[in-house]
Amino acid sequence: MKKTAEMVIIGGGISGLSTAFNLASRGMKDIVLLEKGFLMSGSTGRCGAGVRMQWGTEMNCALSKATCEIFENINEILDFEGDTEFEQGGYLLMAITEKEEEQFKKNIELQHSLGIPSELLTPQEALDIVPDLNIEGIRSCAFCAKDGHANPFRTMQAYAEAAQRHGVEIYTYTEATGIDVVDGKVKGVETNRGYISTDKILIAAGAWSQHVGELAGVKVPVRPERHEILVTEPVNRKLEPMIMSFAGNIYLQQEPGGEFIMGFGPEPHESYSTLSTWEFVEEMCKKAYHYLPYLKNIRIVRQWAGLYEMSPDAQPILGKAEEVEGIYLATGFSGHGFMFGPITGQLMAEYILGLPTTLPIDKLDVGRFDRGELIFEPAVV
Ligand SMILES: Cc1cc2nc3c(=O)[nH]c(=O)nc-3n(C[C@H](O)[C@H](O)[C@H](O)COP(=O)(O)OP(=O)(O)OC[C@H]3O[C@@H](n4cnc5c(N)ncnc54)[C@H](O)[C@@H]3O)c2cc1C
Repeated sequence: MKKTAEMVIIGGGISGLSTAFNLASRGMKDIVLLEKGFLMSGSTGRCGAGVRMQWGTEMNCALSKATCEIFENINEILDFEGDTEFEQGGYLLMAITEKEEEQFKKNIELQHSLGIPSELLTPQEALDIVPDLNIEGIRSCAFCAKDGHANPFRTMQAYAEAAQRHGVEIYTYTEATGIDVVDGKVKGVETNRGYISTDKILIAAGAWSQHVGELAGVKVPVRPERHEILVTEPVNRKLEPMIMSFAGNIYLQQEPGGEFIMGFGPEPHESYSTLSTWEFVEEMCKKAYHYLPYLKNIRIVRQWAGLYEMSPDAQPILGKAEEVEGIYLATGFSGHGFMFGPITGQLMAEYILGLPTTLPIDKLDVGRFDRGELIFEPAVV
């Protein structure tokens, strides 16, 4: 294991790996990435891997448009011999309440002003896209054909291989157990396998970011929240887009291999538990059958749970820590970190290298919580 590094990245999920690749491909040498388990053992390996451009704030629309453009070319950008399986089947967002319908209209106006090709559909028009959809109670739908889905395992493999080709050293089963700070500056990282001297650390530790921050005396306001998900046996392809309802609290899609994957947001509850529950299956099935009655005849093959890394306003935290020089943060994605992973890596690399960032990230700094400048995003499950 290296004894010194220019940069140590803590976290082997998509945020850490994407930043590692983007830094190394821009010329930074001596990057070490630490992962306490195996790559993707955090949330990235447990996610639904949906990617959408339909957001309700200018910042999230811009981030997601930029990230989609990377996903569209990701195999080439990462020189990946496999396929990350990015498919653009669209997202169909169902408005159930009048308030939601009004919000969708505003979101679409904003999205159009930023070049996102979304549209508002009547329930009848939505049937052209999802013929078996139960439209009872649906007022209208927002649809963007360029939203989609990728294979999270292959995406991670692509980033990890590309980062390694550019010289990044990835140490799995290597936990950061201490951060050495002298006179307010980072000096090194203690791990269960030895000490690494460095003056730059990126905390990309997902739901564990708060604990990693505490190692350096840095406040990272991120708390874990368990989210469950399940997958069915594969069947013939019937559903192209992801269907989602914020008020109905559900997301559901069919994977390229034919499996349906689905989940819903639980009552907010801080927990590191990743246990699965029977209650989730019961509730999930009721919700899913309601929208797609044909699912009744399809068997569930697996359920699991993972952690959302919740920030106080459910928006990412990007930038640097305030208390200690040399600590950078890429965390708090609050359940949307897979889709933001490619653009996060690019923006964080630009920021760390002192380059102008492709998109402004100053409003996403950790200081916004103390300043009371929280960001309100209306388009979340
Ligand atoms: C059920 C579910 C569905 C989801 N669906 C979607 C979706 O459809 N679209 C979407 O965009 N997002 C989705 N997400 C959210 C997404 O998975 C996360 O936002 C994203 O994966 C975060 O990536 P990350 O790299 O920041 O964190 P993680 O993937 O959690 O990686 C952090 C890593 O840090 C490691 N680590 C922690 N502490 C230490 C330490 N001290 N030393 C070394 N390593 C350490 C952990 O082991 C972990 O592997 C979903 C999440 C869940 C749980």
